[in-house]
Amino acid sequence: MRILVVEDEAKTADYLRKGLSESGYLVEVALNGLDGQHLVQESEFDLVILDVMLPGIDGWQLLQIIRRQGHTPVLFLTARDAVEDRVKGLELGADDYLVKPFSYAELLARVRTLLRRGPPREVEHFQAADLQMDLLKRKVSRNGERLHLTNKEFALLHLLLSREGEVLSRALIASHVWNMNFDSDTNVVDVAIRRLRAKVDDPYPIKLIHTVRGMGYMLEVQS
Ligand code: CA
Repeated sequence: MRILVVEDEAKTADYLRKGLSESGYLVEVALNGLDGQHLVQESEFDLVILDVMLPGIDGWQLLQIIRRQGHTPVLFLTARDAVEDRVKGLELGADDYLVKPFSYAELLARVRTLLRRGPPREVEHFQAADLQMDLLKRKVSRNGERLHLTNKEFALLHLLLSREGEVLSRALIASHVWNMNFDSDTNVVDVAIRRLRAKVDDPYPIKLIHTVRGMGYMLEVQS
């Protein structure tokens, strides 16, 4: 199992390298974001441990680069115990986070859990109540009737279906469907949701797309 540690504090980086090596992992260390970027682009890792505050390319930017490439699990290290940091990290696609200072035992437990989880299974078919989505054929139907969606509507519905029952913030939706930055204007999401609802929900008695006030949107079969 290969682990990449991106951490600019030499002491912490060293401590992680030693500990994880002794626990049986192959460890590579990058002391800044740019070196980290080169390493993730040049070789395959089973896990990346990523510090938020890095010189040059910071942890947020590197996380986005890693997420564009694939599903390598990312454990975020954040020095500041700020709620926004964790939320932002998880929204950008980190799998877990740890607040500094942390114990090695705690880190190892998280690492083991993330490595056990493995890559997400590619699902080709989604269903919620009478809504069906076939990813390979790019077909969506409700109550047996074919729905005609634009590419963005399809991507949006796919995201909602793949995370059924989870509240998705506008920022997360924007970053997944439009590849927009976290801080971009997310009004576009509301407009797209309205259009999607007009096709997917409005003509049918059972509503699937729900607005969660102050938080975002969620697809759920509610009884
Ligand atoms: Ca740092």
